[in-house]
Amino acid sequence: MSHVSEMISNDIDQYLQMHEHKSLLRFITCGSVDDGKSTLIGRLLFESKMLFEDQLAAIEVDSRKYGTQGEAMDFALLVDGLAAEREQGITIDVAYRFFSTDKRKFIVADTPGHEQYTRNMVTGASTADAAVMLVDARKGLLTQTRRHSYLVSLLGIRHVVVAINKMDLVDYSEEVFQNIVNDYRQLAEHLGLSSVTYIPMSAFKGDNITEPSANMPWYQGQPLMHFLEHAVVDADAGVDTPFRLAVQWVNRPNLDFRGFTGSIASGRIRPGDRVRVQPSGQESTVARIVTMDGDLPEAVAGQSITLTLTDEIDISRGDVISKALAPAEIADQFECTLTWMHEAPLLPGRPYLLKIGSRTVTATITEIKYQVNVNTLEHLPTKTLELNAIGVCNLSIDRPIAFDPYRENHDTGGFILIDRLSNNTVGAGLLHFALRRSQNIHMQAVDINKAARSRLNGQKSCVLWFTGLSGAGKSTIANELEKQLFALGHHTYLLDGDNVRHGLNRDLGFTDVDRVENIRRIAEVSRLMVDAGLIVISAFISPFRAERDMARSLVGDGEFIEIHVDTPLAIAEERDVKGLYRKARDGQLKNFTGIDSPYEQPESPELRIDTTETNVDRAVQQIMACLRERGILPL
Ligand code: ADP
Repeated sequence: MSHVSEMISNDIDQYLQMHEHKSLLRFITCGSVDDGKSTLIGRLLFESKMLFEDQLAAIEVDSRKYGTQGEAMDFALLVDGLAAEREQGITIDVAYRFFSTDKRKFIVADTPGHEQYTRNMVTGASTADAAVMLVDARKGLLTQTRRHSYLVSLLGIRHVVVAINKMDLVDYSEEVFQNIVNDYRQLAEHLGLSSVTYIPMSAFKGDNITEPSANMPWYQGQPLMHFLEHAVVDADAGVDTPFRLAVQWVNRPNLDFRGFTGSIASGRIRPGDRVRVQPSGQESTVARIVTMDGDLPEAVAGQSITLTLTDEIDISRGDVISKALAPAEIADQFECTLTWMHEAPLLPGRPYLLKIGSRTVTATITEIKYQVNVNTLEHLPTKTLELNAIGVCNLSIDRPIAFDPYRENHDTGGFILIDRLSNNTVGAGLLHFALRRSQNIHMQAVDINKAARSRLNGQKSCVLWFTGLSGAGKSTIANELEKQLFALGHHTYLLDGDNVRHGLNRDLGFTDVDRVENIRRIAEVSRLMVDAGLIVISAFISPFRAERDMARSLVGDGEFIEIHVDTPLAIAEERDVKGLYRKARDGQLKNFTGIDSPYEQPESPELRIDTTETNVDRAVQQIMACLRERGILPL
C-alpha cells in the first residue's frame, strides 16, 4: 500500500486537511494521441506519487495480472490504460483526471484533438488556468497545433507551455528544439499569446518532467512539474480585479435577516464597502459577510459567501453585485464569439436561452458576421454555424444584464446557449463588447395605445396563427374566416405566405435559416398589427415550434391563437393544389416541408382542425366559436 493509501486509512482528517490548504491548478493538454498526450498524463500521474486511490489500485491489479512489480512496467501499464480509455471514450465530452504533489492539487482536462472535437476542447479549456501544448519534436508545428493554439488564445488561458516532446527521438538536439521555438513564437505573436514557456522533454523517458534532464544540459529552464506547481492561477489573479458576485439565491430565514448568496467571481469585499446591484443600479453598503464559519472581515475571489446590506433594496437571483466605483457594464445587445456545440445548426433569429452567471434570459443571434476557419484563421461568410464552427456574431437578449468583456472577466463575460425545447447546451460564447444601441434607442411612449384602438374597433386585437403542411387548407380556411369577420364589421388583416414572400420577404429562400427569418419578420409585423388593434390572420406553414413560440411571446397573454390545420401528409400531397409536392418528389424543389424538411406538430394549439373530417364552413364556425369563448369577439 502506498503512503497515500496508508494516510487515507489511518488519518483521513490529516489527509483532507493537507489537500484543503493546497491551491488548485486546472490545466488542459492539447495535441493528438501521437504527440504523446497519454504518455505525458501517465507520466505526471506516475511521478506525482500521489495517485488517487482508484488509479493506484488499477495499476496494482494490472501489475499483478501481468506478474510484475517493476516500476517501468507499472508506468507502461498506466499509459496503456489511459490510451485505451481515451480511445473507448473518445466521444465523451472531456476526461478529467486528478493528481496532487506536495505543493498543489491538479485537475487535468484531457480532450480528443481532432477538429470534430473542437467543442470538447472548448469545454475543457473554458475553466483552465494553463494549457500544455504538446509538439512532437520530429514533426514540429502541425495544423492541430495551430488550431489548439487559436482556441487557447480565444478562451484567454493565462499560461501556455509548449512541451516539445519526444526529444529522445531527435538525439536531444538543441537545434531541433530551437527551430520549433522560433516557429511557435511567430504563431504566438499572431494570436496574441503573451505568456508562453518552452520545455524540451521526453514524457516516455521522463526527461524534464519532474527533474532537470541530464540529457539536455543546454536547457536552462525548469522542468514541467515545477512550472505547473508555480503558475499563478486564476483564483489568485482574480483577487486584484473588480469585485463581482452573481447572486445565486436570496436568503430570508426571518424578517430580520436578508442575505445574498453567491460565489465571488473576482475581486475582494469588506464590510463598509459601497456596492451597486446590477442591472437595477441601486446602491447600498455591505453590512456583514456571513459564512458557515462565522462573519469575515474580508472575502476574495473563489469564496462562497452571503452578503447583507445596510438598506432594504430589491435584489433577485441572477443580479450582479459590484463595487459602486467599478461597476459592470449593462447592455442587451453584444458582439460575441460563439462556438457551436450541437448537431442541429445555429439558426439566426431563433430564440435560445442564454445563461450567464446565475441569470438565464432569452437570446437570439441577430447576425453572423463571419465564421473563423479554425485551421487557417481565415474569416468566411456564412448564414449559419454547424457543429464545432466558431463565428463572430451579434447577439440580442430580451432584457439588459450586467456583464464584462470576456477578456476582462471570464465569469461575467462567458455564456452558454441552451435550446428551449430540448434543454441541450448548443453553444458557448464570449462577450466582446456592447453594441450601444440599447442605451440610445428608447421605446417612444404613446398616448393612443392598443387598448384604445381595440375599443374603437369593437374587438380585442389578436393573432390567429394558422400552421400546417402546404396544401393543408390554411389559406382556404383563413380566407373564408376573414370574409365572415369582415361581414360582421371587424377589422382584420390576412398575412399570407406567398404574398409576403413577394414583398417584405422576397430576399428569403427556404433553407432552415431563411425560414426562421421569414417567420421572425412575420411575427414582428403581426405584433405591430395587433398593436394597431386588428385581428391578424396569418397563414404560413411555420414548421418549427421554436418560431411559433417566439411569435407567441411577442404579443400579450391570450392574444395568440394557434390554429393547427391538421391534414395528413398523404392527403395534402394528393390535393397538391400548386403542384409543389410533385416537384419536390421529382427533386426539382429542395427543402420542401414534409418531404425533405421537417414539420414539427404543435403540442398544445388553441385549436386543432382535422380537415379530413371538418369541411371549410365547419372549420370557420369552430374558429368563430373559439374567438367568442376567449372574449376576442362579443358573444
Ligand atoms: P395551404 O394554405 O395550407 O397551403 P391551401 O388552402 O392553399 O393550403 O390549399 C388547400 C386545398 O385543400 C384547397 O384546394 C382546398 O379546397 C382543399 N381542401 C379540401 N378539404 C379541405 C378542408 N376541409 N379544409 C380546407 N381545405 C380543404
